[in-house]
Amino acid sequence: MKTIETHSPRTLEEALALLEMMGDGIRVIAGATDVVVQVLERKKDPCALLNLSYLEELRYIREEGDLLAIGALTTHREIERSPLVMAHAPLLAEAAFIVGSPQIKNLGTVGGNIANASPVADTVPALMVLGATLILRSRGGTRTVPLAGFASGPGRTILKPGELITQVLFPVLRHDEISFYERLGQRRLLSISKVGVAFRARRRDNRMTNVAIALGAVAPRVIMAPNTAAFLEGKEYAAVVAEEAARIVETESKAITDMRSTDTYRNRMAGALLIRGMARVCEGITGL
Ligand SMILES: Cc1cc2nc3c(=O)[nH]c(=O)nc-3n(C[C@H](O)[C@H](O)[C@H](O)COP(=O)(O)OP(=O)(O)OC[C@H]3O[C@@H](n4cnc5c(N)ncnc54)[C@H](O)[C@@H]3O)c2cc1C
Repeated sequence: MKTIETHSPRTLEEALALLEMMGDGIRVIAGATDVVVQVLERKKDPCALLNLSYLEELRYIREEGDLLAIGALTTHREIERSPLVMAHAPLLAEAAFIVGSPQIKNLGTVGGNIANASPVADTVPALMVLGATLILRSRGGTRTVPLAGFASGPGRTILKPGELITQVLFPVLRHDEISFYERLGQRRLLSISKVGVAFRARRRDNRMTNVAIALGAVAPRVIMAPNTAAFLEGKEYAAVVAEEAARIVETESKAITDMRSTDTYRNRMAGALLIRGMARVCEGITGL
């Protein structure tokens, strides 16, 4: 059996130095829940590993003025249970809740979910509508980049050699904002997304403004649905409005057919999830 050299730095500085020194010869792991699967499927060679999981300095959820800052090593479990996330970004708590199983949620990190650049990653649509930015650190310095431009396709990102995601940052939702993350999988839990819909809007006197919608699992990367958002802008919520929005979102959903679903079904379900989510947050109707 091949042994894999593993480095487990205790500080970010040490991790960045190792990453710079070893270049392509080392692979970053956080919770390793994606990497282990990739290694088993032999999609990636098990070279030396840089294990970030001891970097306590990257495991936090805190308010910074009007922003919520989440360290890259924060697990889905920590996000799902965080009173700050529940109060200021409930749709992110919903997304973290739905990830995998308790075991996966205890290991899998938000940084890993983003860096893996999978179109089915559950936290990414939620973070996209929150307008999240990422802090990327290397020995050479720090970059702040919008999450929306981070992934260019499955497994492809703008991360440069030597860089790590260290933080996710987004404005907290205001008291008059509504939001949801709805996902369809083979089962309610313990399944990968067939389609995910994240939504946020300001709602005053039933009228919606600043609408943002993101779709997961229906394109090579998580995408926004600007036409649907524009249609809803300034409108009062009503079931018929949600149904019309659903027809538009189905045209913005660019799903493919694969072993999990057909393109037609996924596109239709994007609409159905939008109707379900809007009924839930606007009317308190559940179980649709
Ligand atoms: C059984 C099972 C069920 C799952 N269910 C779901 C699900 O329902 N929803 C979902 O979204 N995902 C799911 N996943 C996928 C996975 O658990 C998540 O994507 C998780 O968040 C990955 O985090 P991690 O810390 O384990 O990443 P890792 O596997 O450690 O790393 C993933 C990738 O990110 C890179 N990376 C990690 N951290 C950083 C960093 N800070 N900076 C730069 N690069 C970094 C690694 O090099 C690697 O390329 C599931 C996985 C399994 C095995």
